[in-house]
Amino acid sequence: MNFLDAKSAPSREDRLHASIAFGGICAQVKTGKQAFAAGCTNLSSRLFSMAQGCQFTLSLAILNSIRNAVLIMHGPIGCGMCSLGTIGQNKTLKQLRDPASEGLIWISTNLDESDVIGGGEKKLKEAVRYADREFRPETIIVANSCVPALIGDDIDSILSDLQKETAGIIMPIHCEGFKTKIMATAYDAVYHGILKKYIRYPDRKIPLLERDTDKFRAAYRKSRNVNVLNVGSMSLPDEGELRRLLEGLGLTVCFIPCYAEPKDFQYALETSLNVSICGTHDDYLVGHLEEKYQISFMVDTIPIGSKNTSRWLQKIAQHFDLDKEAERLIEMEQRTLDEALDPYRKTLAGKKVYLAGGEVRIVATAEIIQDLGMEVVGFKAHHYDRFIEPIFDALENIDEVLFSVSTNQPFEMSNIITKLKPDVLITHVGGNNIAAKHGLPLLPLFGPTYNYCGYSGVFEIARRLHKTIRNFEFNRQLSRNTSLPFKKEWYEKDPFSYIKYAQGIKA
Ligand code: SF4
Repeated sequence: MNFLDAKSAPSREDRLHASIAFGGICAQVKTGKQAFAAGCTNLSSRLFSMAQGCQFTLSLAILNSIRNAVLIMHGPIGCGMCSLGTIGQNKTLKQLRDPASEGLIWISTNLDESDVIGGGEKKLKEAVRYADREFRPETIIVANSCVPALIGDDIDSILSDLQKETAGIIMPIHCEGFKTKIMATAYDAVYHGILKKYIRYPDRKIPLLERDTDKFRAAYRKSRNVNVLNVGSMSLPDEGELRRLLEGLGLTVCFIPCYAEPKDFQYALETSLNVSICGTHDDYLVGHLEEKYQISFMVDTIPIGSKNTSRWLQKIAQHFDLDKEAERLIEMEQRTLDEALDPYRKTLAGKKVYLAGGEVRIVATAEIIQDLGMEVVGFKAHHYDRFIEPIFDALENIDEVLFSVSTNQPFEMSNIITKLKPDVLITHVGGNNIAAKHGLPLLPLFGPTYNYCGYSGVFEIARRLHKTIRNFEFNRQLSRNTSLPFKKEWYEKDPFSYIKYAQGIKA
């Protein structure tokens, strides 16, 4: 893989044959080969679509978190308005890592009709000079939206000229929404900019050893440094738990890219292993780091659920020849967790659960559901690609369970919930307004302040599920006093009626 000579990252439709339209069962998606051979998952096509994601907005999930930076949204004022909802969270989470950190600083170039005719160059230059003069950031990030890309603004040339005038590094991110239907292309778009502008060896000298020699690399391999590629849906308690486990193996941990600062990206090259939390999120970055800097990487499972966490730790330990140490740590953690889960297993057993959100995360969370004796009755994934395959290994009796793929499309989810009749919903943050109106207990799939990862994450999910199931009066009242926005006739139809070539669900 090497796309760094190109201006922007390729779409995930082209690079990974990812899909956003599918309705069937887990057996069809457990091995990518079967699903792709069936010709359904890569079709990404609906006769009717209710909502669609935009990679520009998902790119902001990472970009808004980078410290000591000003973000310029180059486009109409509406692009990126979703950041309004995360200002407080961004500020708090930055300051928890560095109390002196600024909150989110963003500027819009506010392109209008006359700029579509005359070009957005003048406004972009003004915005960059203003950001540099007013805030003196280490980095000026320019996120490019559809309008400048459609009218042919050559932002790379404009920014390259401006770089001579500014103190901070200017980092263009090509994340125009219209270029892809797979929102997760955003991760590649952001990493493309980071790889080109941020990743480089630090200016300080490394004592005794010259860089780029076998001796140098061997020295660092023997070292105990790992980069853990965090994701926007991870919380500080999640990072704390993974740090605790890896430090328990004697490793030194650096988290990038979310809530990192520029120097973290430079020191990121002084590591032995890049560890992915989620292949869907990280493969573009770690693949390029291996090719360009010969740093090994691990893309496997996500450390959510005890089996997945143990597997994740074992794979990391193998790289450092720490297998025995990992075995001892896992045995101790598992024993403590089992004792702590016992009371929750008694109250939660037998409840039916429906999960919706990112493909890797929902299937991993299902491991906790089965561990607690609950029953998984269905999945809805934002999109589908090959990174889901190892996550199924931790599940049992899952082949016949419903699996659908859609980015948002709440009409399909509402229909499925009505047919499957789950006792509990675990759904992605931002899509819970429709889900909550079904009047069921609901646990968000992730949260910025809660622990979901590692062994303590399993306990925390069990504790919160137990609490949610005991008292969901708010959702019950919501369903009694509000109505869902879909007609009765829709609930009589197959939920996948609008997906081309989808396999139906039994009502
Ligand atoms: S699809 Fe294009 S115009 Fe719409 S929000 Fe995304 S980047 Fe902006």
